[in-house]
Amino acid sequence: MWNGGSITTAATFPSPTFSDVAPRAVPARKTLGEVEGLAPLIAAKSVVRRYGSGPAVCTALDGISLAIQSGQFIALTGPSGSGKSTLLNVLGGLDRTDAGEVWFEDRELSTLSDAEISNIRLHRIGFVFQDGHLVPVLSVAENIELPLLFRQDIARTERNQRVAQAMRDVGLWDKRHRRPDELSGGERQRASLARALGGRPSVVLADEPTANLDQHTGAAVIRLMRALCARYGSAVVCATHDGQLTSCADQVVRLSDGRMMPS
Ligand code: ADP
Ligand code: MG
Repeated sequence: MWNGGSITTAATFPSPTFSDVAPRAVPARKTLGEVEGLAPLIAAKSVVRRYGSGPAVCTALDGISLAIQSGQFIALTGPSGSGKSTLLNVLGGLDRTDAGEVWFEDRELSTLSDAEISNIRLHRIGFVFQDGHLVPVLSVAENIELPLLFRQDIARTERNQRVAQAMRDVGLWDKRHRRPDELSGGERQRASLARALGGRPSVVLADEPTANLDQHTGAAVIRLMRALCARYGSAVVCATHDGQLTSCADQVVRLSDGRMMPS
């Protein structure tokens, strides 16, 4: 259990001017044509991931090739079991591949040590999961601060500012002392998004973040995610069944049985 020793108390955060969660103007996104020729942020090349062995083998990813450019918003769709979560885990270095390559900028993940991959995750990638994955015994402020405590490049003052900004960004300043079980589902996902963005990641990998939300709340979380990622320049890859999300994505990637379907 977290002992709270080095967590900054929320009382020390600078008092914010609350900014409404309504998104600010979203900069125009690059079309695929405009980004062509640029080196991708993340590239998967003929990626294969199998679970099990022998006759029981399950090929979760069966030759996936995909390029994610900086600032792009990609919706990842497909039926349950089609490989969405596996692909997000592989792109984020949480899972290994059995064949193929995953490049993060100019580094291929299978050539890196666990420590080097952890370092990329800590500094460059934000994760948002279906149920938020917040630490139940920590407050909203402490949950957002937690990953920043591992960042040696972020001093205490900046850390406090980022946590306060993140809580303002997602409209949770007033609920900063609450624990996750004292929040609604939508608030938990906003806290999870704030935690992911506090690190100013190059990419946010989101696994069905609206799956447990009603349509109205899910739409609000999607708008917020899009607006904030645009503000901070983060690319997004978001696994979803949500038609609202696919309609506002720059690119929709459809999976079926571990393969990409033509769009
Ligand atoms: P989705 O997120 O689209 O629902 P997943 O990536 O979770 O799909 O799963 C893809 C396939 O891989 C499914 O057939 C699933 O049963 C299988 N799978 C996922 N994780 C594991 C695991 N840890 N062990 C064995 N099979 C798995
Ligand atoms: Mg899944």
